Parts: sequence; structure tokens; C-alpha cells
Amino acid sequence: MTDGARIRADAPRETESLYGPSRSRRPSDLHGDRIVCPFCPGNEHLTGALLTADPGPDWQSRVIANLYPAVVEPDGRHEVIVELRAHTARWTGLDARTIEGILRVYRAREAAGYADGYAFVAVFKNSGAAAGASLRHPHAQVVALRRPPLSVVTRLERLTGTCGSCAIVAAADERIVAQTPGFTAYVPDGSRTAFEVRIAPAVHAPRFSQSADDAPAELAAILHDVLERLRATLGEDAPFNIIVQSAPHGSRAQALVHWEIELVPRLENFGGFELGTGGFLVSRLPEDAAAVLRAACPAAARA
Ligand SMILES: [Zn+2]
Ligand SMILES: [Zn+2]
Repeated sequence: MTDGARIRADAPRETESLYGPSRSRRPSDLHGDRIVCPFCPGNEHLTGALLTADPGPDWQSRVIANLYPAVVEPDGRHEVIVELRAHTARWTGLDARTIEGILRVYRAREAAGYADGYAFVAVFKNSGAAAGASLRHPHAQVVALRRPPLSVVTRLERLTGTCGSCAIVAAADERIVAQTPGFTAYVPDGSRTAFEVRIAPAVHAPRFSQSADDAPAELAAILHDVLERLRATLGEDAPFNIIVQSAPHGSRAQALVHWEIELVPRLENFGGFELGTGGFLVSRLPEDAAAVLRAACPAAARA
């Protein structure tokens, strides 16, 4: 490791830290500060450079360079996806059609990252201060790296020929929350927080950006269903993360990784046990959380 490197490993723990010194200057409106939101229509001049063709003044979403990047070239690229025009919109209040539009942007940016030669593309969303967001305006982030994170490499080395996600979607497991013909939503064993839900395609596939063109519509429908169940269970303002888990570059990853969406409510904060051990203290057993979410009636909650 050379002096000045911005990505450094804690080798024994198989983790890495990305050092972005400008991140301490990020503006925030989630801690009581009054700021001009850079993501609102009319404030486009306050954001980083557009990374796609100019969508014009009536844009529905914008993909921009992060002004406070966690990683810069030659190591990688850090993008922001402004998902919607409306500053106060919440994902728990979106219809499936709107969610589909956002997922299509996620999919396009994952594809763009691999097309541009990056070895690993992380697409994720932080919603709420407890989930790591600094701005309220609905947005997601894309971190594209020239080398896959050490934790991802290590995980991949340990994967064997059988896929855990395939086993889940094939079995009538008590941890299943909802299903469509093409997708299964389930609470994983080893969930990191209460009510964590993962949504996996029924047929083994390595990467979201390689999914069929009609996949985002079906994924949006089941994600909308799960969000409604979470809203009925946890309330409309519960902080959460959404993470797209796709295969990094390489044929072994393509063969063994089953892509999925992770939806992680953040009602329980990570503390000393989590930092000390890498494990998690969770208040709900997976099968109990799945039963609660299955019983949550979104239609009744909306009425
Ligand atoms: Zn805004
Ligand atoms: Zn699989």
C-alpha cells in the first residue's frame, strides 16, 4: 500500500475503508440545518456534472457526479442519482410505476459502470439520517471501483457450487414474504436488522443490469408490495437502505452470484457489538418477521 492511498484495507478483518476527506463538508438538511437543496428543480447549478445526456428542464431524474466523493479516479467514480423532482417524496408513498422508473435508472447506471470498465459497481440508497443520508431529497448513490472491495473478493472465494438464494426461492420457506412469477421476497437467515427483506429473481442470474427488459416492472411491483407491508408495520418514516447486490467482474462471480435487492430497515442502530465482532444484535427472528410482514395488509393500511 502506497502512502496517500485513498483505499486501505484492514487485512485481518477483510474490510476496506474508502477515505474521502471532502465528505465532512457535505451539506445536510436532516439535522435541523436550513440549506438550499441542491437536488431540487431550479438548483441544478449547485450539483456536480451531469453524467448522462442532458434530460432538459423537465427532468424526472438526474445522474450527477458526487461533489463530495468517497472515491475518485484512478480508484473509482462516485455518482448521485436524484431519483425524483419532489423534495419531500417518500419511497413508502410511491406507486409501482414510479418505483419502476427509478429502478431503470439504477439498472442503467450499473450497466454503465461495467461498460466503462469498472470491476465492481455498488448501487445503494440511504433514506433517513439513521440510514446514512445527509439530504432528505430522494436520491441514491453509485460507487464504481477499479478493484472489487476486499470483503466482496473474500465472499466470492468462499462461495461453493450451490447457491443459497436459489435454495430459498425453490422452497416454500417460512421466511418468504411475497412472491411473483419472477421474484421472491424473503427475510434472510442472518438478517442484519429486524425486518430486513431481500428480493431475488426466481431464476439464477448474476447481475441486475443483465436482467430482461421487463424485469424492472415486475421487481417494482413486488418491491412496492414489500414497502407497503413495511410501512404498515414500521410507519412511513422508518429509515432504510436499499442495496443492489450484483456480481462483480469475472467469470467465477458471474457463475456463482445470484443478484438481489436488499431492503434493510434501520430502526436498530449498529453499536459496539456490531463494530467489535462484525455480527448483529437483532430483535426479530427471520421467520417471525416474515410472518408479521405476510400478515400486514397494505390495502387496509392505505384505506
Ligand atoms: Zn430538494
Ligand atoms: Zn442462485
